[in-house]
Amino acid sequence: MSNGNYINVILPLRLGWEPVYRVPQGTEPVSIGTRVRVCFGRGAYTGVVSELNVKTEIDPSRILDISAIEDNLPCITPEEIRLWRFVAEYYMCSVGEVYKAAYPSARTDGEETAARRKERQAELEARRQAAEAVAIQKKKETLALRLEKRKEALAHARKETVKERLEAEITDLESELDQLESRLASRGMDKPVHDAAQDIQQLPSFKEITLNDAQATAYADICAAFREGKPVLLHGITGSGKTELYLKLAAKVLSEGRNVLYLVPEIALSRQLEDRLEAFFGPLLMTFHSARTQSGKLKIADALRSHSERTPYVVLGTRSAIFLPHHDLGLIIVDEEHDSSFKQSDPAPRYNARESAVVMAGIFKANIILGSATPSLESLYNCRTGKYALAKLDKRYYEGSGADIEIIDTIAEKRKNGMVGNLSRKLLERISQTLENGGQVAILRARRAYSPYVQCEKCGDIPKCPRCNVTLSYHRDNGKLVCHYCGRSRAFTGICPKCGGSLQTIGAGTQKIEEELTAAFPGISIARLDSDSARSTAYEKETLEGFASGKIKILVGTQIVTKGFDFKGLALVAAIQADSLSAQDDFRADERALQLLEQFRGRSGRRGMKGLFVIQTSQASHPVYKMLQGLDGDSIEKMMAEREAFGYPPYTRIVNFVIKDYNEPRLDAMSSALARSISSEVKLPVTGPFAPAVDRISNQHIRHIRVLVPKDKSQAWNKKQLKDILEAFEKEKNYKDHIAIDVDPV
Ligand code: ADP
Ligand code: ZN
Repeated sequence: MSNGNYINVILPLRLGWEPVYRVPQGTEPVSIGTRVRVCFGRGAYTGVVSELNVKTEIDPSRILDISAIEDNLPCITPEEIRLWRFVAEYYMCSVGEVYKAAYPSARTDGEETAARRKERQAELEARRQAAEAVAIQKKKETLALRLEKRKEALAHARKETVKERLEAEITDLESELDQLESRLASRGMDKPVHDAAQDIQQLPSFKEITLNDAQATAYADICAAFREGKPVLLHGITGSGKTELYLKLAAKVLSEGRNVLYLVPEIALSRQLEDRLEAFFGPLLMTFHSARTQSGKLKIADALRSHSERTPYVVLGTRSAIFLPHHDLGLIIVDEEHDSSFKQSDPAPRYNARESAVVMAGIFKANIILGSATPSLESLYNCRTGKYALAKLDKRYYEGSGADIEIIDTIAEKRKNGMVGNLSRKLLERISQTLENGGQVAILRARRAYSPYVQCEKCGDIPKCPRCNVTLSYHRDNGKLVCHYCGRSRAFTGICPKCGGSLQTIGAGTQKIEEELTAAFPGISIARLDSDSARSTAYEKETLEGFASGKIKILVGTQIVTKGFDFKGLALVAAIQADSLSAQDDFRADERALQLLEQFRGRSGRRGMKGLFVIQTSQASHPVYKMLQGLDGDSIEKMMAEREAFGYPPYTRIVNFVIKDYNEPRLDAMSSALARSISSEVKLPVTGPFAPAVDRISNQHIRHIRVLVPKDKSQAWNKKQLKDILEAFEKEKNYKDHIAIDVDPV
């Protein structure tokens, strides 16, 4: 290497390789993780140095110099790069695509002026000082309490030796208190020199959690598994105290000076949890979720980077929080691990934060706990093979709580004139009883809008989105017909565009249910929570707070209302048209419906009071309800056996090819050709091409090809084969940017 050092650079592109550049002699040295500005093709990019002293066969005259070193962009840590490499390999995308997701262009292109940097530093310092003040204050309180006790003991002490000991202790405590006092007073004037060990003592003293017997057993099991370096699946029914266990585990890790990542599937869920964690962790908590602004995210990333052992952190975040510049992680918690929101479906990287977190824990040598009342079959399977350890909590913390199940058969009710619109008289009766007793009610209807579709009385036509193969939903609040896939809408005139007949609304979404409830319970405060109404964060927050405080009596919503909320007064939960939950054409339909219903059931009867879960359905004999009631033997066992028999996950992995094209005939030709080429080159079960349930979105037609890959040593090799086949196919047919690979789709 005569004239400079050759390096590999990760570029934020879908590129299967990491191009070589030269760092010219005389340039300051770069290291792995340094960000550099380079030219590639016709563009200029900010890349990440991934390899130094690269030996290359390429003609030196063809190797470009880097354009600049991006000094003012933070370096990427080796752990981050390792995680990216795993995600890229496992989810069959490029490392650059993962880099791009972890560092969206707003970050890399951001012009970071020195002034802004200074400003941020000052902000961080202020934050650190605030945390320190809280810690000192807490410590002072503990010491003062101890001092008081000693003084009291001294007043009652008789023996000289005891008196002497107490007096000595009192002197010590008083001087320690004095010191704390002066530290509080001098804070901000001169920065104390930090000694890590001393600082750890200053952690806010976390609220002591006393475990009950069941929790203590689970806690011991968890700690034992951690000692063996195994991930733990905590299978605990709702209200059994999983969160309390997480808190206890987290407090321990923090007191050892290591950090905690607490992953939750969704923002709505994290909001209530955030208050609970804030109360427990105080200023150590940082929240990171998709709704945060770009600058808010930057701030958290910077805070993590510039913080040291002296104040460990807890990050509460949704899936992309795994891509923050973490360090010294001691514990990762994956709450509600079964939730499919941990999976990103589009765009690449199509990763599952749960599986990635397990790998991440390995990278950081951190412990990891996945928890759920309704674990995924994937994680249960991992327990069976011994990859994970299983800890269980079978009892609710407040005994006697929990919800009974009542199934209302709407077909039978209709015959008996037992339905008022979409609500049965029985359910209405239960609701009024609950309200009379001062309780609250939550209602789940899995479809938003006023009615899922409208139909012409005269010609029977059901208007569809002109761009998507889905029916248009009627939204009464804004008088529009809306496509839930592409978001486009048009005014609802009530007149059939085909024949001029009159359009009738069919079926009931959350808006209509809300309307019917308002009519049935005049004067009662009712609110609705779905992705239409929750579009405003303020509204969502207000609604959740209103329901928590008891101001709102009835809450109607989509799946959002089933998520891990803890509402004291919630006595009745009801699922309306529950059959729609298990009607999907998917091998996971039962598992999903069961998880959703069980989660929802767990929302009621939380504080020692008996709750009721009403399921209104037109398919009262569906096996899912039997499973839910435990009337069907070991339902997990049954589902597992079924998956095994069909060779479905968790016994195999699915690699799904998603092909999209505006031109349908070309799509069909290409999809068939790709399927043929896969079948001929790998000996794996291939299904398709087939059209998914919604086979056209925003004018793009869609086909899937599904390949089942065995879950053994051949997995990585098979995936590599599949990727190579795709790349060769794209090249040969000159068919770029039409095909995506989705590994472990949900
Ligand atoms: P889960 O996360 O399993 O649904 P939680 O941790 O939310 O359960 O516990 C349910 C309720 O019981 C909460 O109100 C919680 O504060 C309370 N609880 C659980 N364990 C304890 C404990 N060890 N000490 C005090 N309260 C507890
Ligand atoms: Zn559409």
